[in-house]
Amino acid sequence: MSRPDDFSLSIIVPSYNEGACVEQLTQELGRILPPLTKRFEILFIDDGSKDDTFARVVALSQKDSRINGISLSRNVGHMAALACGLDAARGDVVITMDADLQHPPELIPDMIAAWQSGYDVVNTLRHNTATTKASGDLLSRLFYAIYNRTADVKLIPHSPDYRLLDRRCVDALCSMTERLKFFRGMVPYIGFRQTTMPFECPPRFAGERSYTLRKSLTLAYDGMVSFSDFGLKLPFVLGLAISVVAFLYILVSIALVAMGITPLAQGWVSLLSFNVLSLGLNLTFIGVFGLYIGKIFNEVKRRPLYFVQQSIGQPLAPRASSDTIRDSGLA
Ligand code: UDP
Ligand code: MG
Repeated sequence: MSRPDDFSLSIIVPSYNEGACVEQLTQELGRILPPLTKRFEILFIDDGSKDDTFARVVALSQKDSRINGISLSRNVGHMAALACGLDAARGDVVITMDADLQHPPELIPDMIAAWQSGYDVVNTLRHNTATTKASGDLLSRLFYAIYNRTADVKLIPHSPDYRLLDRRCVDALCSMTERLKFFRGMVPYIGFRQTTMPFECPPRFAGERSYTLRKSLTLAYDGMVSFSDFGLKLPFVLGLAISVVAFLYILVSIALVAMGITPLAQGWVSLLSFNVLSLGLNLTFIGVFGLYIGKIFNEVKRRPLYFVQQSIGQPLAPRASSDTIRDSGLA
């Protein structure tokens, strides 16, 4: 199956304090996109930046009508900014990428070629570079190992939010109403034909990484809670195992006492250890329930994920024959 050459493309760029990057990224995209399609938009989502990111996007948009911007009312985080981009993008094809040029725009022609050959999702795979800290790498490997053994979806390790999505996939993602957006899990969840492309991840062009260890851990735990009820099952499994061991221990103790041997006479240390351990386990599992209940609490409030402060630019016009593209994708 092959897709038409005439398609519209939205590039979504969530940006938080990326004033020093937006011009360079726009320049590189301005070189790479026109040979691919005439109808494209670069949509910056300014996620409540404290620097001049949005002012620079406005200036770029005044010079070039293909550059659009949405500024959010406050910093809502990378995932929510991406969700805003997906809601607003109008392209037949959508590519999400970071503002800091760590997602090389040179990959886009290959991604488009994969889409044209019939893939609906083109994920990417980040090769480790000198910029990745060994400790962070170990943590992320541990995360993926646990995640892929316990969650309902399989994540692609080291696959960032640099990906191409066919319009049907964008619509599918937008139809998932959860507040907690974990796109690295949601994308494998929707299915469709997916492929993965590796790339070398260069250092940031400018600015500082806003994903602190705390933000990364929050994302990891959000991902865990939203696609796995393993934490809720664990107390049952472990509780059952401990109960069986305790029951056997009681039986053996009774038997030993009946035989005139009293194993518990000097056993207060083991008794205390067991009590402390069981208290620790109980509190831990109450805490795990708390994490899930906290997420349920957030979901049932159904608050909007973001509020738009200002939109600039001209959204891509929906193509008259967009259904042709959609249908050809189904063939
Ligand atoms: N980002 C965002 N909101 C945030 C944090 C980050 O929109 O609260 C954007 C950021 O501007 C960048 C992308 O998300 O375009 C990835 O962030 P960063 O480069 O800090 O993370 P890393 O690439 O180091 O994982
Ligand atoms: Mg980055």
